[in-house]
Amino acid sequence: MNTNKPRIVILGAGYAGMMTTKRLTQQLGAEEAEIVLINKHNYHYQTTWLHEVAAGTRNQNQARMMISDVHNPNRVRLIYDSVVEVKKEENLVVLENSELSYDYLVVSLGFESNTFGIKGMDKNAFAITDIETSRLISEHIEYQFAKYKLDPKAKEEDLAILVGGGGFTGIEFVGELVEQIPKLCKKYDIDPSIPKVINVEAAPTILPGFNEVLVAYAKSSLETRGVEFRIGAKIEECKKNGFVVNGDEEIKAGTIVWTGGVTGNSVLNKSGFEITKGKVTVNGDLRVPGEENIFIIGDCAWVMNEEEGRPYPPTAQAAMQHADTCAANIKGLLHNSELTKFVFDDKGTVASLGNSDAMGTVFSGTKLYGKPASAMKKVIDNRYLFLLGGPKLILKKGKLRPF
Ligand code: FAD
Ligand code: NAD
Repeated sequence: MNTNKPRIVILGAGYAGMMTTKRLTQQLGAEEAEIVLINKHNYHYQTTWLHEVAAGTRNQNQARMMISDVHNPNRVRLIYDSVVEVKKEENLVVLENSELSYDYLVVSLGFESNTFGIKGMDKNAFAITDIETSRLISEHIEYQFAKYKLDPKAKEEDLAILVGGGGFTGIEFVGELVEQIPKLCKKYDIDPSIPKVINVEAAPTILPGFNEVLVAYAKSSLETRGVEFRIGAKIEECKKNGFVVNGDEEIKAGTIVWTGGVTGNSVLNKSGFEITKGKVTVNGDLRVPGEENIFIIGDCAWVMNEEEGRPYPPTAQAAMQHADTCAANIKGLLHNSELTKFVFDDKGTVASLGNSDAMGTVFSGTKLYGKPASAMKKVIDNRYLFLLGGPKLILKKGKLRPF
């Protein structure tokens, strides 16, 4: 291997890391740079499908793929290890099992669950963060159903599922749960009126800040299918068997899932980057202020929406667009050309409410509901697979059945 080539190291193979790697291999000649992608696992998963894995409505293997099936290991050096720290002064990445120097670094390590210090939440609630945590949730739910008739001490509340936080993750998750529960009731011969799905949200509405008409549609659709909402209920503690809300009211359940917020990967803090609410505010070119050769993208970055004076929300859509700018700017640095400024192209937001219902806005604000929205959500999911691996990847992992 030509060791004189500059080395580009990408940390994390999520939406941002996978697409940056893809763009770099498309835009740089093999002799121009060595590209190294480091990830905890040998597979990449679609974070945006994790609520389905967590509910048990989608097999975990459909929501993930081997990284080597997407990136040719002869072109991209793949290292499967956990990043512990970045030593900026030494241009060095410390991994659990080795170390690696870099000339250019892309930090795309994604998000972690943020429990805001709520008492007992880290210990007693599950969170939807990766394939393993999501699989654990679906297995825990199934275990509750499996033991219900066998355990003489089992109570009806053991079959209740509490979801803390009515943002997009919480809402998409309860939409899947109400599809999975009837199947579990049938499998374990349980009266379907017993299990409850309860979503608890502190704000006066679910999906605070989103279009009111669409929020009303989502709430009504989910209520019709059995979701109970506790709106304006601030979770103050999480006990082993439920939440404490608004002072002293207890809501009990056998499964508790926290979907109340996310923050940037804790490696950022360990590495001494300047942190604001768990993430790093980057320059317009997506580099870290004062660091010529470090880009931070995806859910680890605050990228400012200058018109509105606040950062863009952390989404896969944004992470993929960061990847385009980041790859173009690394090429710019290698070629001594001018760097480009990140401009977010908002293509809309669509949230699933189960497999055959959804709602959202597309293009410049057109509202979609029901089956058309659900079909659009699947198109969005498949588009990502297309960008990553072409039609072959859609055929292998895509959502091919409309409903
Ligand atoms: P991620 O996709 O989280 O990838 C991070 C990668 O880094 C992972 O592969 C992880 O294994 C790896 N990693 C982490 N720590 C380490 C370490 N220490 N060492 C090595 N590797 C590590 N956004 C949308 O735009 N549309 C949606 O429909 C949507 N749906 C969502 C549904 C759910 C259930 C959730 C949880 C989020 C959803 N989002 C959606 C948000 C979106 O998933 C995130 O914004 C997006 O995943 C961020 O991409 P990323 O590349 O920054 O991080
Ligand atoms: P979020 O921060 O968007 O929502 C968390 C919710 O939990 C908020 O409504 C908040 O009011 C509530 N909450 C916080 N503390 C609480 C408490 N103590 N008691 C009760 N409720 C409390 O987090 P998220 O839903 O995980 O979303 C994270 C990011 O991922 C967002 O940017 C979101 O847009 C994106 N996402 C997008 C989609 C989609 O586009 N379809 C789907 C999932 C997630």
